[in-house]
Formats: sequence, structure tokens, C-alpha cells
Amino acid sequence: MKRNFCITLVCLLIASLSLQAQQSRKSNSKAVVKIDSAKWRAEHYVINRDSAYADPRLGLKKLMGGNKRFVEGKSIKPRQDAQTIKQLENGQKPFATIVGCSDSRVPNEVIFDQGLGDLFIIRTAGQVSAAASYGSMEFATLKLNTKLIVVLGHTECGAVAAAVQRPENVPGHIVTLINDIKPAVAKCAHLPGDPVNNAVRQNVIEQVNHLRDLEPILHKKYVDGEILIVGAVYDIHTGKVEFLQETLLNLPQNKVKTKG
Ligand SMILES: [Zn+2]
Repeated sequence: MKRNFCITLVCLLIASLSLQAQQSRKSNSKAVVKIDSAKWRAEHYVINRDSAYADPRLGLKKLMGGNKRFVEGKSIKPRQDAQTIKQLENGQKPFATIVGCSDSRVPNEVIFDQGLGDLFIIRTAGQVSAAASYGSMEFATLKLNTKLIVVLGHTECGAVAAAVQRPENVPGHIVTLINDIKPAVAKCAHLPGDPVNNAVRQNVIEQVNHLRDLEPILHKKYVDGEILIVGAVYDIHTGKVEFLQETLLNLPQNKVKTKG
């Protein structure tokens, strides 16, 4: 009896050790996928940084891929280390200019999973632009050679909500924001659905069209196909960025030649 018990105990011990070895082999084989290998890059929707800078269409794909990582909990937080700080000390080549809202829930590098030197960002409430913002966009276009401009609104935007509510006696300079957004609110007042989020989309479309027509720099660069100007809306409930179809149609012919 005692002997049988000992044999069972030894068998159990061997089985347990073999299971442990199997599990360890499994976890080792998982670790074999090399970081930054072609497979890893495909799984993380990574687009080459230099190609994205050279071609705004690839820049757009890079932003879409980064947001996909963010939404899926697969953020890689690229180029956020001491080595990148060192590499950038002599200059920057951001591959996209983001014209976004100041809202603290929409931190651009986080939601697009990008790093230092990647995004040139202009933020005001409701992404309302005036002379200083236009100058910043032109600086990025002319001096930094950034070829992609993304106007980024977001759902439940407070500035847009204020324009929808049309409050009286608005204090200070806040009235400037509301007045700028009012035309977009009026344009979609007849639409069904949420009036604020409808106005958020319309506001982005209006702003994209305005920048495409903005003289003397952006308009020419846009119609010549040297830069892209598109619009997107970030969903504060899901973290997802939707690039608006209305702003992706009939884009000017791409004149930038890249290897892809
Ligand atoms: Zn906002």
C-alpha cells in the first residue's frame, strides 16, 4: 500500500515537471517574435517613419495604424526615449500637423501612438483657428516640409456644445470661439441625431475646406498636390479616430514620389 502511494507520488511529480517544461517552452516560443521584425511591424500596423514624412498618404496610414494600436491596447510608445531626444537636438521633421481641440481628453501623441518629433500640433478649443494658428501651419508646411494637415475634432466637444446652446453674455474672448463655430451648427441644425456631435463633424468639414482655400500658402500647395488636408473626429467613448470620408474624396493628384 505504502509502495503504491510512493509510485503515484513520483508519477504526479514527473507529470507536473513535464507540464512546467511544456509551458516554459510555449512562453519562450512566444518571445521569439522579434521586436521590429517584419511580422511584428505588420501586427502593430507600423509604417516607416521616413516614408510617412515624404508622402502624406503614408502619413495618414501611419496615424490610422497608431490609433488602431491605441484602441486595441497595443500602443508601442515609439520614439519616447533619451536616444530620440539626442537625435532631435538639431532639428525636427514632423510627418503630420494636427489642428486639434485643447480638450485634455485628446492628447495627440497618445491617441495616435507617436513620439517626439512626429507631430506638429496646434490646439485651441473647438480647433478654432486665427492668424497665429494659420502662421503655425504655414511654418510647418514651408519650413519643416510637413505634408499632411489633419483637422481633429472630437465628440462631446465643449466649445461646439456652447455654440449649439447659443448662450447670452458670453464672458471674455470665449465669444470668438462660439462665433466661429456657429455657421457649422446652423448648417446641420436640420439633421437627426445628436446636435452637438453632428455639429462637431460639420465644424471639422468646414475647417478643412477653409484651410484648403487659405491663401497665400496652403491653397496653392494643396491644389498642386504637395500637401494633404483632411479631417477626423476622435470618439471620447472608444478612443477611436474616424477619418471623415467627406474630406478623403477627390483629393488632388499626389505629386510626391516615394518608394512606398
Ligand atoms: Zn473640444
